[in-house]
Amino acid sequence: MRARVRPARLVIIGHPIAHSLSPVFQNAALQALQLPLRYEALDVAPSALRDTMMRLALEQAGGNVTIPHKEAVAAMARCSPLAERVGAVNTFWHHDGELVGHNTDVAGASATIAALQPDGVHNIRCALLGAGGSAAAVLMALHEAGCAEISVAARTPARAHQLAERIGVRIDVVSDADAAVRGAALVINATPIGLRDDAMPIAPEQLASNASVFDLVYRRGGTPWVRACRAAGHRAEDGQRMLLEQGAAAFTCWTGMTAPRDVMQRALDDGVESSA
Ligand code: NAP
Repeated sequence: MRARVRPARLVIIGHPIAHSLSPVFQNAALQALQLPLRYEALDVAPSALRDTMMRLALEQAGGNVTIPHKEAVAAMARCSPLAERVGAVNTFWHHDGELVGHNTDVAGASATIAALQPDGVHNIRCALLGAGGSAAAVLMALHEAGCAEISVAARTPARAHQLAERIGVRIDVVSDADAAVRGAALVINATPIGLRDDAMPIAPEQLASNASVFDLVYRRGGTPWVRACRAAGHRAEDGQRMLLEQGAAAFTCWTGMTAPRDVMQRALDDGVESSA
């Protein structure tokens, strides 16, 4: 899915938004390809979302959507089949005044899963911790990759059942992470645990010895869970590859051009290091 006409303006809308690293690497990409566009962060409270989207339509704007607006924008947009199934829009543009919504978080999750499990996930059991917006993208990525055995640990089990029903995938829903990770060869954290302190979604000792680990959270110096899992001998990645790949896919949607990943990666590395 691509915009037929390049957006006249690029933004990311969220609330809060100051922490977002997307402007750092998207502006580096725009500059590297000498495109006369800037990518700006807009802090949009939920009460202002509808008016903001109407204004952005008049401006022929495109961009990204982040917490807490992904589901709300999906409800307003003509969604791609993928965004419809995931129930969330993270990338948008306008076509003849109509809001078009797509989801590139799935591509970001797929890239990380492929890096951690180069032989694929057809024959392995995967554990997913969390059942929110990003868990939906991960579940879709696992389903697209052919994973048939997925355990989801959800604090609110109804959310996990709703995700599975909308995506059309069979999952086991369990209430605690210990049960989900038993025998899982890939364990994915899609909760915010570890974002602000040293808490871990599951102790490394609970993991199967061959388990690889994907933490959607990212922060300066790496997340405590990824650090502890690597120290215990597990292959582990944080959320930076997913962030970069969803951004690269969105860049191509807006511009029709291949994203300069090396430029974006360098800008992201610098951004993560200088963020508090
Ligand atoms: P969300 O929609 O709010 O969902 C969070 C999920 O985690 C919900 O299932 C929630 O359960 C569960 N949860 C929250 N705190 C928990 C706790 N203390 N113990 C157990 N479960 C808990 O958020 P989201 O959009 O999915 O984002 C989750 C995290 O992923 C973010 O914090 C962010 O760091 C990361 N993320 C990374 C990327 C990337 O590109 N790398 C993209 C998106 C998100 P309830 O339903 O019971 O509240």
